[in-house]
Amino acid sequence: MRQLDELTPENLYAELPPIFWSRHRPDPLQDTFLVHFNARVAKSLGIDPGEDGRSALTALVAKGEALPGIEPMALCYAGHQFGQYVPRLGDGRALLIGQVVDPRGERHDLQLKGSGRTLYSRQGDGRAVLRSTIREHLASAAMEGLGIPTTRSLALFGSGEPVFRERVENGALLIRVAPSHFRFGSFEYFFYTGRYDDLRLLLDFTIRNYFPTLAVADNPALALLEQAVNSTAQLIARWQGVGFCHGVMNTDNMSIHGITIDYGPYGFLDAYEPGHICNHSDYHGRYAYDRQPSIGLFNLSCLGQALLPLVDGNPEVAAERATEVLRRYEPAFDAAWLAERRRKLGLAKEEAGDPALWDELLALMESERSDFTNTFRALGDIDSFPDRFIDRDRACAWTVKYRARLARETVEVDGHRARIHTANPKYVLRNYLAEQAIRMAEDEEDYGEIDRLVQLLGSPFDEQHEHSDYATVPPEWASKLEVSCSS
Ligand code: AMP
Ligand code: MG
Repeated sequence: MRQLDELTPENLYAELPPIFWSRHRPDPLQDTFLVHFNARVAKSLGIDPGEDGRSALTALVAKGEALPGIEPMALCYAGHQFGQYVPRLGDGRALLIGQVVDPRGERHDLQLKGSGRTLYSRQGDGRAVLRSTIREHLASAAMEGLGIPTTRSLALFGSGEPVFRERVENGALLIRVAPSHFRFGSFEYFFYTGRYDDLRLLLDFTIRNYFPTLAVADNPALALLEQAVNSTAQLIARWQGVGFCHGVMNTDNMSIHGITIDYGPYGFLDAYEPGHICNHSDYHGRYAYDRQPSIGLFNLSCLGQALLPLVDGNPEVAAERATEVLRRYEPAFDAAWLAERRRKLGLAKEEAGDPALWDELLALMESERSDFTNTFRALGDIDSFPDRFIDRDRACAWTVKYRARLARETVEVDGHRARIHTANPKYVLRNYLAEQAIRMAEDEEDYGEIDRLVQLLGSPFDEQHEHSDYATVPPEWASKLEVSCSS
């Protein structure tokens, strides 16, 4: 394991022309201290997860420094926010502080979030608050535990610096880890400003560094679009499977790598409600749970539009070719979602009636507002499954069909339970769990709950009997919790 000064960090973005970025130094916060260090992330990066590694990183962040030899930078991007194009966004409160190559040879951006104003801050203060960084730190760990592609969070820092939101809060920072921070909106920026040469540079850079196999494609721009179509379809199918709602699926929050990025007012479903809106600022439910798959297509269409100048042929032919690639999204999503639904039901064989079996269960769950996570987990014990429902007759009728379907799976009772338990987590990051950790941190400066949740959610499929309380549905006090874009 390496210490920070042994990392030989890089910054490949520096080879791109200055229109892509803006250089700034992190503006340190008063009395910065380490709140939580994710040892699992550190180890995977080949960074010493011990006391020395932690204190070196904390000292660096407290002093407002980047990794040795790196000039930090904010990246420029644009994006469609709630359907409206915003010509310039960019990292308004985050700086790349270096890229490190892990022991497997993979490169990762380390980005410091909450580090102060940049050229892209607009009216913002460039800061993040403890509440929102705890939420991002926990969600990153929870998604990694679930095996869902995501940015990660190496470390979370608090401070004594007041930051003004709806109330006075404390400034905080986190170090986000991602293969790159390119978003669909990175491409849109160069398309809408008519900088097609820079757009070409971005495409070439992306392919060379992250998707080298696409370099030999007949048309690299279309190949990248297809890559994004497939990875986004897979990702959203996984989100739907665990009841994850992103909350702000703007194109600037969509990673070109098909990983979950920019955790803000996200949520995991408690009671099953297909139209659930997790973001209190999403007045029209544009990003409701059941709309996420179709928003995926809207966002990919924005990316496709932005890549058009790089598709050979006259504009009409180019548009037709891009549309053809975009048409693959729905079948790709449908296939991934069908596979996900079968997995959740513990079905390895494929039968035509499986979607109907799923729909019937979900209709029952919707009418009873059944807990999404716990209901699927309970499929492992079929005998008691109908007892969970008020309309027991309806639940029994469904269970009879389900048993008949399972009879054709040639799997023993134990094998069935194991399948259900590997596909359906016992623990997800329910809003109230994150809220408890936030309240303890804010009110009592007690950060132990953050560590407990990171540990627990790192293995969400394991029973962990001693922590069964964390699998319970939200308590009464949590019914009024609201999360919004304020962060
Ligand atoms: P988000 O809604 O977090 O995805 O952010 C959208 C845009 O607003 C991005 O360009 C962010 O960098 C920027 N932004 C969000 N919060 C702040 C802030 N407090 N200060 C400056 N920029 C911000
Ligand atoms: Mg964002």
